[in-house]
Amino acid sequence: MSQETEHVKVLIIGSGPAGYTAAIYASRAGLSPVLYTGGQPGGQLTITNDVENYPGYPDGVMGPQMMEDFRKQAERFGTQVRYGLATKVDFSVRPHKVEIDEQITILADTVLISTGASAKWLGIESEERLNGKGVSACAVCDGFFFRGQEVAIVGAGDTACEEASYLSNICSKVYMLVRRDEMRASQIMQNRVINNPKIEILWNSETDEILGEDEVKGVRVLNNKTGEKREIPISGFFVAIGHQPNTDIFKDFIHMDESGYIKTIPGSTKTNVEGVFACGDAQDNIYRQAVTAAGTGCMAALDAERYLAEFENH
Ligand code: NDP
Repeated sequence: MSQETEHVKVLIIGSGPAGYTAAIYASRAGLSPVLYTGGQPGGQLTITNDVENYPGYPDGVMGPQMMEDFRKQAERFGTQVRYGLATKVDFSVRPHKVEIDEQITILADTVLISTGASAKWLGIESEERLNGKGVSACAVCDGFFFRGQEVAIVGAGDTACEEASYLSNICSKVYMLVRRDEMRASQIMQNRVINNPKIEILWNSETDEILGEDEVKGVRVLNNKTGEKREIPISGFFVAIGHQPNTDIFKDFIHMDESGYIKTIPGSTKTNVEGVFACGDAQDNIYRQAVTAAGTGCMAALDAERYLAEFENH
């Protein structure tokens, strides 16, 4: 662990709806929380467009704006919001140790993990080589670069449907690569893509290779029923196959499921380590909504507050 140290009562790791909500509650309770934003300040909502399902915004709100509002509300009550990434933890000692950017060690009486989840990738060589050169995991961020052009998107969940619909407003054509003969997405989202004349769904289709040297020129698609391969010219390739929780640095101390989602004691945000609480997508592979993340952020702050009250009385 690094040399420079600081002692805090409440350390919040992550700056999505869970982290900021925990910060609002903890700061209003007078606990002077310190929040480290992580590598993507504001979290996944900063790469989304319109949020229409968060209560309190009858006309919808842009994701980045909403996270800006959350941050300001947390700061208003005294949360210290700092840029930095938690790089290592030691939860075997009290206070718990969390290293930031391999430089600072925070000694924390309570740690609230709200590190969220990140996009998954297919894991093929051409995807990595062409990342940022036509390959993207965020249609809302990068769709604009392919306006008027043909693109492909992989995935069959709600995210893939949402992003395919979004791309169809910008691009001339969207190929949607679905690996089975059915989609996982909710019926309403499926209907939107199936009834969209600019979206062509390729069923039983896997990505064999993304084509192009320095930029995406096409995709070779494998039909896993017939074994047939087909090359389709495209200039943008989007991956929308789900997310991976950002919990790697905790795995030596915190109990998780096989996908890396943190296990919490039902009805609470308590982990297996006393004084360490988990909220938001880092511990939720079912709901994964901004509003549920915010709800568990609130729970984590209240759990931490109660824990500190008991801790100080002993
Ligand atoms: P999901 O895990 O729901 O779906 C992932 C999709 O990617 C699946 O269709 C899966 O296929 C496919 N997939 C996974 N790996 C590969 C691969 N290697 N090659 C090809 N396809 C692959 O993730 P989402 O991000 O779509 O959704 C996450 C959660 O967020 C869900 O609960 C969803 O309902 C919710 N959500 C809700 C929205 C809304 O209501 N507006 C918008 C966006 C998300 P297969 O089905 O074959 O496993």
